Amino acid sequence: MQAQDQITRQNFDDWMVPVFSPAEFILVRGEGSRVWDQQEKEYIDFAGGIAVNSLGHAHPVAINALTEQAKKLWHVSNVYTNEPVLRLAKNLVENTFADKVFFCNSGAEANEAALKLARKVGLKVGGEHKNHIVSFKNSFHGRTLFTVTAGGQPKYSQDFAPLPKGIEHIEYNDLEAAKAAITENTCAVIVEPIQGEGGVVPANLEFLKGLREYCTEKQVVLIFDEVQTGVGRTGSLYAYMNTGVVPDILTTAKALGGGFPIGAMLTTDHFANMYAVGDHGTTYGGNPLASAVANAVFEFVNTEEVLQGVQNSHKQFVEGLQKISQTASIFDEIRGQGLLIGAVLKPEFAGKAGELMKLASDYGVLVLVAGPNVIRFAPSLVISEDEINEGLLRFSKAVHHFIKA
Ligand SMILES: *Cc1c(COP(=O)(O)O)cnc(C)c1O
Repeated sequence: MQAQDQITRQNFDDWMVPVFSPAEFILVRGEGSRVWDQQEKEYIDFAGGIAVNSLGHAHPVAINALTEQAKKLWHVSNVYTNEPVLRLAKNLVENTFADKVFFCNSGAEANEAALKLARKVGLKVGGEHKNHIVSFKNSFHGRTLFTVTAGGQPKYSQDFAPLPKGIEHIEYNDLEAAKAAITENTCAVIVEPIQGEGGVVPANLEFLKGLREYCTEKQVVLIFDEVQTGVGRTGSLYAYMNTGVVPDILTTAKALGGGFPIGAMLTTDHFANMYAVGDHGTTYGGNPLASAVANAVFEFVNTEEVLQGVQNSHKQFVEGLQKISQTASIFDEIRGQGLLIGAVLKPEFAGKAGELMKLASDYGVLVLVAGPNVIRFAPSLVISEDEINEGLLRFSKAVHHFIKA
């Protein structure tokens, strides 16, 4: 306790590379969807570690998986395989379109594996010119040089030139523009079924169906980035399952480990077999500790009870937010699926999402932003009715303070 008491927020500025600007308080402990800071102030957690803490904090299922595996085997590298990773792979394969899985440690790495595979596929089926990648404006795919270039927010990539070549960004949900951009030289289309960081913007169904048809026709690999939408977030195991559209490659991370870092790329035998031994790799990917936790989280989430619970919680959130907006007249639109919800600020509050996020934490509730105009909610998938009610009550107080400010 003593060492912890000596740590202050100022220390962040003293010692940390300033790529983040964290809140002024330091969280020290959590249980369910409640967390506490150094001063014992309690917060309701609607942020969920950015759509990561799928079982909330300190869930017994995750703790048990972690501690049991911690006593057995943490890491062996991919020179050897291990039981937890094979169990997790079996679960992912049996419950999705995929036949094969590649494990890594983050969303960016999963997308890196997917985009590299698509380039390899392009080379094999179409030759060296089939290497163009089509992506979408405002998309987010991670922060490695390749994935940040694939992402459609130039502010994240422009300072790091020269960037990888052959990536084009077109308007999201514009099928005609996509068709015009996809040519014989295209190897991949990468798309989020709901743009998370870009403002919680759902793809429309016709757009995704059209992409699927056109990609098949042109022998283009269709990649769904489900890093944010996957593992129950939308009320289905994966968002593609709501669309009737099946991708060739799917990437998943965030909620997969429930807070323990892990990512995965899922694909069919056909595409998996275009990678050969040595083509790609990672030291930690699929390590027993991460895999054991992810497997427990995955099995817990992939039940009718939890997935139906996400849909019920969605209703509770949307109704609560609409009620807040009726009295405070603050939101233009509430959108999203399951427990990935975006509340769009009315034009008169444009640019102020960050301000409201900070006020919310003053009132004891943690929320996220998705760009300057959208408040985002991505809580635990098993958040309780009481926790949602209490959090919305606190959020409502913050909103009323905000509109008067
Ligand atoms: C968060 C996110 C990523 C990046 O994941 P990291 O684990 O931060 O590398 C990629 N794609 C989407 C859609 C995301 O939401």
